[in-house]
Amino acid sequence: MALIISLLLIDFALTTALSWLNLAYLKRRAAAPLPPEWAALLDTSRFPQMVAYREAHTWLAQGARITDLAVTVGILLSGLLPALARWAAALPAARVVQGLAVLAVLGAISYLAGLPWGLLSDFGVERKFGFSTITWKTWLSDQAKSLLLALVLGVPLAGVLLFLIERMGETWWLPAWGFVTLFQLLVAYIAPVVILPLFNKFEPLQDEALREDIFALARKAGFPLGGVFQIDASLRSTHSNAYFTGFGKNRRIALFDTLLEQLSPSQILAVLAHEIGHWKKRHVLKGMVGGILLSGLGLAVVAWVLARPWLYTVVGLEDLYRAMGPVGPVAAVGLYLFGVVASPLGLLLSPIANGISRRREYEADAYSLELYDHPTALEEGLIRLTEKNLSNLFPHPLAVIFYYSHPPLLRRVEAIRRRVAAQMGEGR
Ligand SMILES: [Zn+2]
Repeated sequence: MALIISLLLIDFALTTALSWLNLAYLKRRAAAPLPPEWAALLDTSRFPQMVAYREAHTWLAQGARITDLAVTVGILLSGLLPALARWAAALPAARVVQGLAVLAVLGAISYLAGLPWGLLSDFGVERKFGFSTITWKTWLSDQAKSLLLALVLGVPLAGVLLFLIERMGETWWLPAWGFVTLFQLLVAYIAPVVILPLFNKFEPLQDEALREDIFALARKAGFPLGGVFQIDASLRSTHSNAYFTGFGKNRRIALFDTLLEQLSPSQILAVLAHEIGHWKKRHVLKGMVGGILLSGLGLAVVAWVLARPWLYTVVGLEDLYRAMGPVGPVAAVGLYLFGVVASPLGLLLSPIANGISRRREYEADAYSLELYDHPTALEEGLIRLTEKNLSNLFPHPLAVIFYYSHPPLLRRVEAIRRRVAAQMGEGR
């Protein structure tokens, strides 16, 4: 137990240090004079707001981190886990259902712990900086729908895992891996048709000229585009984005209505060419294969850990473990403990995952310049998006290594310019 708590404290100290280091670095860089080539490009009048926005979110994240640490340590030390498992084990229900009851209570605690910080973000910080447009009505219906989704998707998933744990012994992770993979593919397949429309209205893109240009771009890239939609993201926030969903012939582009407002058509095309680049360079496929392999590895590790008696001794559950084995409510507590330990260890893996992701962003930018022949649209689009969203222009290099799936804007623009210059050289 001391080991687990130390791991949590180290994780807390590191993430806290990194987050405040990142803010201090931003403040210093935003106050220093810009090199002339950047001064012409960036709207420095937005800098004070960018710093204030980052500072507000740093405080929010700090509050959420402290709450999370306190709640987790409280759950571990208060004796809640053995009490919960004993309560569930006495329920007149199948072991799987008893396990689900334990997970439901722990899930509810974690949801409640995060709730005030989500509210402070949506109705406090995001509103103060002019992003959040969400009403209480939309917020409440979002919460209800999310809860329903968590039940509809989470209960079968956790139920099947608990069932396999009970029936298959230590090799349960192998069929579980197959099931989890199929489940993820199914969710990804139905998401654009069933899940996403629960939250946003999808309409065919109204701007016909832009729609024609997008289809022409997709044809040029050989990208099987099924449709271009605009969604009412402004219902919740003025933050802007675009994404691709679906598989095979059902591939769709969803453009936030806020993006359509903020970017010019050529900037939108350059950004979409970047997204097509992710597909062309097989990043989507590689990401999926990588995710499947990682989930197999993760499940094998979970299976090994769940079969260790010391896991249950740590929380005072050895009698229940001896009586029923690592199944039902005992397995549910084991899964929770694994999750607690896995998140600090995940911090060690994040530099690798983020490093791969950042390299892919450069590759997709390069592809965008090839596909959409416009020397400045991509960098203009990226700069505009960064400024409109008040994104951090000057993240600390260490924060980039640990947390940034995308390269900082200025590095990206430098790379884009080098490539454009090289292309023009070739042209001559
Ligand atoms: Zn990208």
